[in-house]
Amino acid sequence: MSSPEKKSIVIIGAGPGGLASAILLAHRGFRVRVVERLPVVGGRTSSLQAGPYTFDLGPTFFLYPQVLQKILAEVGRDLHREVDLRRLDPQYRILFGEGGQVDATPDPERMKREIARLAPEDADGFERFMSENRRKLATFAPVLESPFSGWSDLLNPRLFDALPQLNPHQSVDTYLRKFFKDPRIRLSFCFQSKYLGMSPFRCPSLFSILSFLEYEHGVFHPIGGCAAISQALARIAREMGVEIHLGEPVESLRFQGRKATGVVTPKGTYGCDGLVINADFARAMTSLVPDALRRKWSDRKIAAKKFSCSTFMIYLGIEGKYDLPHHSIFISENYEENLAEIDHRHVLSKRPSFYVQNASVTDPTLAPPGGSTLYILAPVTHDTGSIDWRTEAGPFRDMLIKRLALAGFSGVEERIRYERVITPADWDSQYNIHRGATFNLAHSLDQMLHLRPRNRFEDLEGVYLVGGGTHPGSGLPVIFESARITADLMTSDYGAPLPSTASLQTAAA
Ligand SMILES: Cc1cc2nc3c(=O)[nH]c(=O)nc-3n(C[C@H](O)[C@H](O)[C@H](O)COP(=O)(O)OP(=O)(O)OC[C@H]3O[C@@H](n4cnc5c(N)ncnc54)[C@H](O)[C@@H]3O)c2cc1C
Repeated sequence: MSSPEKKSIVIIGAGPGGLASAILLAHRGFRVRVVERLPVVGGRTSSLQAGPYTFDLGPTFFLYPQVLQKILAEVGRDLHREVDLRRLDPQYRILFGEGGQVDATPDPERMKREIARLAPEDADGFERFMSENRRKLATFAPVLESPFSGWSDLLNPRLFDALPQLNPHQSVDTYLRKFFKDPRIRLSFCFQSKYLGMSPFRCPSLFSILSFLEYEHGVFHPIGGCAAISQALARIAREMGVEIHLGEPVESLRFQGRKATGVVTPKGTYGCDGLVINADFARAMTSLVPDALRRKWSDRKIAAKKFSCSTFMIYLGIEGKYDLPHHSIFISENYEENLAEIDHRHVLSKRPSFYVQNASVTDPTLAPPGGSTLYILAPVTHDTGSIDWRTEAGPFRDMLIKRLALAGFSGVEERIRYERVITPADWDSQYNIHRGATFNLAHSLDQMLHLRPRNRFEDLEGVYLVGGGTHPGSGLPVIFESARITADLMTSDYGAPLPSTASLQTAAA
């Protein structure tokens, strides 16, 4: 094996997964170039800059910073020095269309009182939920940290130990019945499945660890928004010698047989020994890799996969401020119907659930003095062709703005000084996201672990995946985990020495 210094890696996409893997690979002696189609870093975790207003394009909840902290520690950096992280309390307010609200707090005694206000007999379930999920996370963390490159991984003793807790066919809502009787309290602990673009009534029960993570380890707001994390990663990567080429879409790939040998952009060709794809998996495959080269992930097979929901977005620059929580989640009066409209009927809801980020209450850097920003997200169907967004976007936006009053944001229309809307069709066309499915392939059990596109991509040689489209899945903590898994696989495949500070988890797996 030749010296690892000579191995050249190209990463398609400067999303959080691409940037974190760039940092790890550079630290392990590879020459790394990141090629990004947009003029900014961060992908879905970038910011929208509109005059004096700054918005996060996508993520607004930063959970479980420990994964990124560990990655940065390997390269001698401290996450908390690079990004100003603020833990939120309350973490968020959940408002129920059928009445009542919960201010979710990491303080166990206050949280029990919050639950008791709505459902006195459910208050004791909180501690039982926390201790059972503490055990569940401890069991599953090694599973999520493994690369899952084949059926044989299912024989992994760690997964065998975890199986009894997996309850594969139980939804997270059903699982929560053993702790909470009131459906509103259950929703407070399972709406997080929407972070994966899934319904809590279908999302596997394993994902109860999402709400557990919030209470146990915190919900954070990075000052400047979640995009500040991407910007910090890009800064560190550049300081480590990574070249980041912005505004250069990869238009095609070069192959020798099944081995990827380079990428082609309008500015030229970048040859490589190894290729990492951070771009949206389904879009990258169907547009960059000839169908004939793919066996398991052919166009036909990708078309048959289940995709996550999409999101309808409104970003508002506001005159004045709302003295309301940083995060508010309004759950539809008829949540199950709302979910069916998103997941099965692929139509727009008349009474949609929505989420509002009112970040200026925590972060003065996002708006001019005396102003604030509102970020409104409504989960909607991914693009199936059933909705013509050119005609539907306007009325849907008007209805959502009116519904904001249900979460206490009244009189918004008169106070708007800047506005931008992003529809599922825009996610698809402007952000290159297949069907506008903002959270990638759905996280159903038949599309997880080794059944998700693998970090060492099985259909090609010298091609690796990183980000929400591969194992373990969508959401920043697991995207950073995918960066570590992929970097470990490449380090081992190319014979590069693992630095003494590296985790060695995957290489040893
Ligand atoms: C609206 C929304 C809200 C979300 N909220 C949260 C949240 O609160 N918390 C959380 O943890 N997660 C959240 N997520 C999910 C997830 O964390 C983000 O989507 C994350 O940015 C995905 O990271 P990634 O590395 O997979 O890729 P991306 O961020 O999608 O980056 C991929 C990059 O590849 C580039 N690219 C694509 N095609 C090409 C090409 N041909 N050539 C060159 N470059 C290309 C893209 O421009 C992009 O920059 C949210 C997502 C969305 C969309």
